[in-house]
Amino acid sequence: MSFTIHGIGVSGGVAIGHAHLMTHAGLEVPRYDVPPSQAAEESARFDAAIKQVRAEFEELRASIPATAPAEIGAFINLHQMILNDSTLSVAPRRIIETENCNAEWALKLQTDALVARFDEIVDGYLRERKADVVQVAERVMKALSGNPGYVPPPLKPDSEHNLILVAHDLSPADVVQFKQHRFASFVTDLGGTTSHTAVVARSLAIPSIVALHRGQQMIRENELLIVDGTIGVVIVDPDEQVLAEYQLRQQQFDLGRQKLRGLKDRRAVTLDGVPVELQANIELPADVAKAKDNGATGIGLFRSEFLFLNRSDLPDEDEQFEAYRRVAEDMEDMPVTIRTYDLGADKENDSARVTTNPALGLRAIRLCLTEPRRFVTQLRALLRASHYGKVNILIPMLATAVEIDQTLELIQRARSSLDDEGTPYDRDIQVGGMIEVPAAALALGMFIRKLDFLSIGTNDLIQYTLAIDRTDDTVAHLYDPLHPAVLNLLASIIKTANRAKVPVALCGEMAGDVALTRLLLAFGLRQYSMHIAHLLDVKQVILKSNFSKLKPLAQKMLRASDPEKLHAMLEQLNA
Ligand code: PEP
Ligand code: MG
Repeated sequence: MSFTIHGIGVSGGVAIGHAHLMTHAGLEVPRYDVPPSQAAEESARFDAAIKQVRAEFEELRASIPATAPAEIGAFINLHQMILNDSTLSVAPRRIIETENCNAEWALKLQTDALVARFDEIVDGYLRERKADVVQVAERVMKALSGNPGYVPPPLKPDSEHNLILVAHDLSPADVVQFKQHRFASFVTDLGGTTSHTAVVARSLAIPSIVALHRGQQMIRENELLIVDGTIGVVIVDPDEQVLAEYQLRQQQFDLGRQKLRGLKDRRAVTLDGVPVELQANIELPADVAKAKDNGATGIGLFRSEFLFLNRSDLPDEDEQFEAYRRVAEDMEDMPVTIRTYDLGADKENDSARVTTNPALGLRAIRLCLTEPRRFVTQLRALLRASHYGKVNILIPMLATAVEIDQTLELIQRARSSLDDEGTPYDRDIQVGGMIEVPAAALALGMFIRKLDFLSIGTNDLIQYTLAIDRTDDTVAHLYDPLHPAVLNLLASIIKTANRAKVPVALCGEMAGDVALTRLLLAFGLRQYSMHIAHLLDVKQVILKSNFSKLKPLAQKMLRASDPEKLHAMLEQLNA
């Protein structure tokens, strides 16, 4: 019987194939008594399992292909860190002794305790790290039971591309394994848009869906599936007509992607001659190759905080300098806008620091200004890298004039220290601010007077304007880029900046949404920075747009308030 399951599409496109259910050992384990006289032996059995998993991770690391997305290495790091943390690798030994129980039960108790601690965390990103802890614990559990990790089914190599992996949850380690195989798609019961699974899915560019909730229960092994990653729907056991329709859609999608590749070297100019810069958002230096391959004319947002995540120490000045220099050099004089670290809120390094309202707390520049020494270390590294390419410094979350002044003072301090040493840097380096707090948007004048350029962070600007936690699934439906307040703020920021001749870019997810490309163009936006996978799609829209014809309708949209009318007008704009 045919039916559909809905989830969150995290990577677009259509996949058609047979289900392969991936099973995990799970943490439902029996308890049995271990007398004190045998506790040492039981602890040794536990230690051996930890050692085995350590070796598995080393093996996985060695097997990562050079072409694999950079995030995969970072995820293995994170899982190794979790494994090596004493709360997982040592604490269960004590439980074996105090509870007189077997190693599996001790591991289960400890994992439950850790998971409960994660559940108390308000911050969505950190809460999702709970899944990483469970995944690592599951690996140890498998090692204890003598059951090796996930092993792909024996298949003829050419049949793999017809397989759709159906999992309760996937760990980055699992993803490495199926990266070497050629699964058509994967769908999972758990995960949110910021989960590791979603991040890797986007970088692998295969249609994928998360948060199906009961996919593993409802789908049977080998059942025929259609995965529509664009709208987040799985069609189970489709009838012939639906299948034929999706086969056609899949062919069209693949053809479209092939055609898009031909646009890589075309300049992004509208039909009436308005040039547009299409730049890439990256998280790690290794992403540059893909950005260039998709025709990016610069890096509009390098989220430097990813260099600080998934590790227990801090990258020192030299390590940061090497990372920034590599991006600057690899981009060969194209602009590289590096954002100073935006830690806190959904990107937390210090898991001990739990606040009730992290998105409104000590985050981004607020955090930097409380730890000037750490911040100046980054600023020195950025300045040093500016000698090797066209580096711009971007400051996140600025809201007040005092913050801007203090930041500029610290940049001056970093410059003076380099001057004293005679270390070269670009003396014309540009310093910009992200406009992602409504206060900044409404008091734009002070940003324009004090800074060289602006970059609109719509992910946060929408979060703060509409009071919607961007990491909270339960209010995700209220997150609306077309809300009149958002549209009017955006149009006004762009207009004010253009009038003052201060360059303004937009680097939130809106920049990569083709449905909004023309609207932003009509508002006067000339610089977009987006996820690499969207660059060519947006370029295609720009090439087919006529700026002068768009403007009147876009102005009309600014006066509309009815959501249905707004959507209708947007459709008209995109027709
Ligand atoms: C944004 O807020 O729009 C942005 C680009 O920054 P981030 O998503 O990293 O917060
Ligand atoms: Mg932001």
